[in-house]
Amino acid sequence: MKITVLVGGVGGAKFLLGVKKHLGLDPFGPADPDSPHRITAIVNTADDIRLHGLQICPDLDSCLYTLGGGADLVRGWGREEETWTVSAELAAYGSEAPWFSLGDKDMATHIVRTRMLDAGYPLSAVTEALCARWQPGVDLLPMTDDRVETHVVVENPETSDQTADAPGLVALHFQEWWIRYGAGLPAMSITPIGADKATPGPGVMEALAEADVILIAPSNPVVSIGTVLAVPGIREGLLASPARIIGVSPIVGGAPVRGHADACLAAIGVETSAEAVGRHYGARSADGLLDGWLVAEGETAEIDGVQVRQVPLMMSDPEATAAMVAACLELADVTA
Ligand code: GDP
Ligand code: CA
Repeated sequence: MKITVLVGGVGGAKFLLGVKKHLGLDPFGPADPDSPHRITAIVNTADDIRLHGLQICPDLDSCLYTLGGGADLVRGWGREEETWTVSAELAAYGSEAPWFSLGDKDMATHIVRTRMLDAGYPLSAVTEALCARWQPGVDLLPMTDDRVETHVVVENPETSDQTADAPGLVALHFQEWWIRYGAGLPAMSITPIGADKATPGPGVMEALAEADVILIAPSNPVVSIGTVLAVPGIREGLLASPARIIGVSPIVGGAPVRGHADACLAAIGVETSAEAVGRHYGARSADGLLDGWLVAEGETAEIDGVQVRQVPLMMSDPEATAAMVAACLELADVTA
């Protein structure tokens, strides 16, 4: 069985733990060479940012660390048993973006990545090299090798380092909006800059065409899944695939389980509900994406042309998440 999953960072990585578990793999371990199954993740790269001269790919790294058994699952991001010496020293120099925490161990990943990128390797090749260490058990494919950066347009925040006499709108890098401002500045628009000229990364179109089932992880519909779909060719690849497409709602009880997806949805005029997100993805039979849509128990979603199932949607551990994956495959009418 070939399962292809569209993912962002933490939510996507957690979902992939369940995919591995459902297929009989160690969620935190490498692929089993004897397994007939293959999992491919198409990973959002529009959160990527260059800081301190280092190229940081938060969503790819969340997948690497989580699936490779090196993530801090309590904090929810970054490496386990992390230290913060270099960040503290950079802050003492008044270096850029003190609001973006970079652990010492994490920084090593960015140094290796940046050195390879600067030597001319594409991000997909760099990611493959990083996977040689982490053995995530999943083929992690950047959505594109091209530079795409999500920018968020907001009213100019009158903070100390912005002149109060510069009213109007400013575009912030997604990370600045999300982390520095906690997504608290109302977003007038959220745009993956560069996506329109990007091409799908190596293996992406094949992973869609050859899949037995395609899953849309309960990742942020705007800044994780929306950005992947913004790369020309990827949406078309999903629609052309013979595989059924099943999505999982990141919205439970009218709120994101974690993070500020509500602020992102507001920016694109979509209500924060499982039904509204399902409608936003749309029915495949009506030029949308979905054949099936999982919502939490006790919730309803009526979307013409989409089979909706209610199941527990909390990814509390790989077992619980594997049950969600099993429900996806049932809805897709495929069995592993
Ligand atoms: P990020 O890139 O690290 O922000 O992570 P993703 O975009 O992959 O996932 C973030 C989304 O995952 C958020 O919108 C959450 O609502 C969703 N999420 C996190 N944990 C759970 C969970 O246990 N169940 C469900 N259904 N969604 C979750
Ligand atoms: Ca992300």
